[in-house]
Amino acid sequence: MKIDLNATLREHNTFGFDVKAHILSYLTESSDIPEFVKQAQESQQEWRIIGGGSNLVLASDLKGMTGLMQILGRRLLKETATHHYVEAMAGESWHELVAWCLEQGYAGLENLALIPGTVGAAPIQNIGAYGLELAQVLDSLLAYDTQKNTWVTLTRDECHFSYRDSLFKQEPNRLIVASITLDLPKKWVPNLSYAELKNAFANQSNITPRDIFERVCAIRRSKLPDPKLIGNAGSFFHNPVVNDSIYQKLKSRFPDLVAYSTYPTTQTNQTTQTIPHWKLAAGWLIDQCGLKGYRQGSVGVYEKQALVLVNHGGGTGKELLHLAKTIQDRVQEKFGVALTIEPVILNQ
Ligand SMILES: Cc1cc2nc3c(=O)[nH]c(=O)nc-3n(C[C@H](O)[C@H](O)[C@H](O)COP(=O)(O)OP(=O)(O)OC[C@H]3O[C@@H](n4cnc5c(N)ncnc54)[C@H](O)[C@@H]3O)c2cc1C
Repeated sequence: MKIDLNATLREHNTFGFDVKAHILSYLTESSDIPEFVKQAQESQQEWRIIGGGSNLVLASDLKGMTGLMQILGRRLLKETATHHYVEAMAGESWHELVAWCLEQGYAGLENLALIPGTVGAAPIQNIGAYGLELAQVLDSLLAYDTQKNTWVTLTRDECHFSYRDSLFKQEPNRLIVASITLDLPKKWVPNLSYAELKNAFANQSNITPRDIFERVCAIRRSKLPDPKLIGNAGSFFHNPVVNDSIYQKLKSRFPDLVAYSTYPTTQTNQTTQTIPHWKLAAGWLIDQCGLKGYRQGSVGVYEKQALVLVNHGGGTGKELLHLAKTIQDRVQEKFGVALTIEPVILNQ
């Protein structure tokens, strides 16, 4: 296992923050994971895993050990009369996996095209976009349990997925994902549950998975800044979920309020599933506070999409967190709604 000391992480986080990892270990094989954990435990150092750094705010240098997930490999694990099961290792690029599956004829991931980052990080926040979440296509995953020092296979249900949440977020730094297995039905039906996609294909019959893939890529490119050009981590805040009574009060005060009906969690008992909730568009709330395009020094709110915070160049994670606090305060003041930060903050 290769190790670098005092290594810059500028190329390993999409905000481009120039922080250093005290010890950076390159994890290129599954067996590197238990070795990395053993070294951290024996030397009693704190540790963390990073993948593509596309959902991170690096707000200070990282003490202890940082494992950079780079284990590669993908294959058709199993095929039944009705399903393809695809296995992918944690260091693979998520988007390249989606594109590869499409080329092989394993459809079903196309709504999740162009999400940056690695395969191993996809279950952490249950990545989702354009009407699909990882939870809907994951069969199981292999992870290293750092409390029991053993490998575990977790089924989809055992991952406790909900909106941008999972067991891995609820118990941080316990499980290191080494690979995932996807369950892709052979009978393909286009997922047009997201209004923008539905409208895009309103006049088209015979829609193919590639049509959806290309349309999702085009929409995303038109809306989201390319991290190679301007540092960002995609959506910076969760869309807040409120109950019907709060929604109705807000709607009467702000008739243009943008919200979508939803349920509190995707895995819950029958009683709570029947209670309607509303997901408020966080970008709309921020925009209504006059903050689209707002700037604090080198960091700011993206001029085309208020949900995205950007590093214009030379900014720091601490500056970004200060900006986030300003936005949270303004939204709380105007709407009485708390915004929570989506990316993981590493701040020591
Ligand atoms: C332009 C842009 C658009 C985006 N759009 C979306 C979107 O539409 N939907 C969406 O859900 N997200 C989106 N994101 C966020 C991000 O792409 C995803 O959260 C992605 O899964 C992060 O992957 P990563 O490898 O970069 O993880 P990192 O940022 O490196 O890590 C994120 C977290 O996962 C943990 N982690 C990483 N790998 C492992 C592993 N193998 N085992 C255990 N823990 C691990 C880290 O410790 C950290 O806590 C977007 C980001 C950007 C920059």
